[in-house]
Amino acid sequence: GKGIAVFTSGGDSQGMNAAVRAVVRMGIYLGCKVYFIKEGYQGMVDGGENMVEANWSSVSCIIHKGGTIIGSARCQDFRERQGRLKAAKNLVDRGITNLVVIGGDGSLTGADLFRQEWSSLLDELLAMKQINAEQRQKYRSLHIAGMVGSIDNDFCGTDMTIGTDSALHRIIEAIDAIVCTAYSHQRTFIMEVMGRHCGYLALVAAGASEADYVFIPEDPAPLDWQVKMCKKLSQERNSGQRLNIIIVSEGATDRNGQPITAEQVKKVIVDNLNQDTRVTVLGHVQRGGSPSAFDRILGCRMGAEAVMALMEADDNTEPCVVTLDGNQAIRLPLMECVKKTKAVADAMHSKNFELAVELRGKS
Ligand code: ATP
Repeated sequence: GKGIAVFTSGGDSQGMNAAVRAVVRMGIYLGCKVYFIKEGYQGMVDGGENMVEANWSSVSCIIHKGGTIIGSARCQDFRERQGRLKAAKNLVDRGITNLVVIGGDGSLTGADLFRQEWSSLLDELLAMKQINAEQRQKYRSLHIAGMVGSIDNDFCGTDMTIGTDSALHRIIEAIDAIVCTAYSHQRTFIMEVMGRHCGYLALVAAGASEADYVFIPEDPAPLDWQVKMCKKLSQERNSGQRLNIIIVSEGATDRNGQPITAEQVKKVIVDNLNQDTRVTVLGHVQRGGSPSAFDRILGCRMGAEAVMALMEADDNTEPCVVTLDGNQAIRLPLMECVKKTKAVADAMHSKNFELAVELRGKS
């Protein structure tokens, strides 16, 4: 059977365990040897106990857990060729030529680069006599299937990334909890949610929680946002509403690119409306807790599809990323999606928000 390794890299997200579980079980079911690589690329560079064979029961009882049981990390060594050379040796030693990477666009970019270099890395290992000619031939091609684990839903080519739905559940639970106390004391609450370049969490949470106002990076606030917001808030109070909820995405700005923070919003409300106003920063709570049913099933389906893609790959197959299109787990060319995602990030960075929204909409 083929050698497959699965690893999680970059920021963790709920549902990664379901994906890991599906890869292991689908791989074993199809007769493969499946390995865990722990702590992301660092485990691949270090080898040893960070690369262990998985069995059917090593993924029992993990589907309901948030985060990733095999650990995730950011790894400087893998950014250097020397690190990737070590990683290649560790893979060849174990007969692994298929990688399932679960991470963000950085992790997927690293995987693509690794595959491009694979031949030359093997040549170098052969010249150094770290592998033999038979291994050079047998393990000549590296196959890659990616999945996107991210709570931000910021990847082009997929309707949802693994973890977004669970993060939304956390946010909604927190808002619901706060609405009760806000109602009792007639308070205004400002909730800061994650999403540095992508307002998906803030926007959807606002829609699902009857928020009065939302600030997202893609739609910078007009320069007189203070006036507009205060007008809206007082309208709501005057019509009998006992509380106000405002959601601020951590990457929100005004049209001049000035950041809009929860504390700033609070000051505006207190100074102008004299409302009893509190700030809640949700932070890492959003990454925590159990994955939702949606993320569990998403991880399962994507994991199974990733293994199928690797089973069907030949020497010429390009790396793919498994994404969600409507209700289907499909395969798309990995680097095309990464490039589109980067183009959106670049447009956001250079404050060309119309272009960013257009590019994201097209994908
Ligand atoms: P998140 O969206 O949570 O930030 P990410 O996968 O984009 O996830 P990064 O920190 O960008 O997170 O990348 C994770 C790891 O992938 C890096 O620490 C590094 O080891 C590897 N990596 C990223 N980009 C490259 C690259 N261009 N070349 C080699 N390795 C890379």
